[in-house]
Amino acid sequence: MSAPPTAPYRPRLEHRVPARLPADHPPVLVVVLDTEEEFDWSAPFDREATSVEAMNDVGKGQALFDELGVKPCYVIDYPVATQETGWKPLKEIQDDGRCEVGAHLHPWVSPPHVEEVCAVNSYPGNLPREVEEEKLRRLTEAIESRLGRRPVTYKAGRYGFGPNTAAALELLGFQNDCSPAAGFDLTGDGGPDWSRHSAEPAWFGTGRGLLSIPTSGGFVGALSGAGAALHALSHKPPFLQARVPGILSRLGALERLMLSPEGYELGHLKRLTSALLARGTRVFQFSFHSPSLRPGCTDYVRSESDLKDFLGVCRQYFEHFLGELGGVSLTPSELRERLLPPQPGTSA
Ligand SMILES: [Zn+2]
Repeated sequence: MSAPPTAPYRPRLEHRVPARLPADHPPVLVVVLDTEEEFDWSAPFDREATSVEAMNDVGKGQALFDELGVKPCYVIDYPVATQETGWKPLKEIQDDGRCEVGAHLHPWVSPPHVEEVCAVNSYPGNLPREVEEEKLRRLTEAIESRLGRRPVTYKAGRYGFGPNTAAALELLGFQNDCSPAAGFDLTGDGGPDWSRHSAEPAWFGTGRGLLSIPTSGGFVGALSGAGAALHALSHKPPFLQARVPGILSRLGALERLMLSPEGYELGHLKRLTSALLARGTRVFQFSFHSPSLRPGCTDYVRSESDLKDFLGVCRQYFEHFLGELGGVSLTPSELRERLLPPQPGTSA
């Protein structure tokens, strides 16, 4: 395994301007499924692990979305886009107007295969500029040829946006980026540091033409203002032994949460949502991985009973957001249409 780059990617927040909804617009839920091959998350990355059999179960999630009026965005990677088992069920849903299909780059299973397969290179933003761009180009073309539409929404594999990603997205005609994992520091194995990143949507890139829709996450609790600093400290001795954030979490003073049914319970999701709403957030990204719809493919869903619970959390959260909170479900492209144009001179 290669050593992490000497300087992990830290996004330049000063280049972002807030993306605002009209004042009377209800809160928006953007549901994004990282739609990918099923692979052993605990094993080393493997170019040969490209099975997409779990896509036979994608209808289990879509049935729930259809019932509750949720219109998801499936961001799909190369194995899904190039095997009929992967792309065909999505084309039917897309052509029926019940979803958007975007792009999701897992470099280790996306040609050209020129880089060493390792943890650092699993974050597409760590690759040399031309390699990241060419992989994204081939993925985009694969999606366009199978699905009949060019994708305009991107989510980097492993939240691995990098210094050259915006330029590649612009070159290839993308409009929306769902890559940031607000509140999470992934530098441990060479990924980006999103720990201080806002969960707010923002315009960025040349002419502020790209829309950033972060995966909703962040620190919740009485000490949430110091959350990123406390988590950073926890990686340095003596706090490493003291496990300060863990203790604070058990006291309810500090929790780091992500808006996902994978590893989080309904109570977590509601707590995170109300904390972000209180801070003025109006746009939320709820996400999970498509293989979680097939028992045994991810750690989060090991059995039929787990799947029932998993879909139950999704259902109850959607009912909460679209019911009690009066929110609406939009795809990234639909959200973009609703937002006010970027206003220069402000920062996110
Ligand atoms: Zn992925």
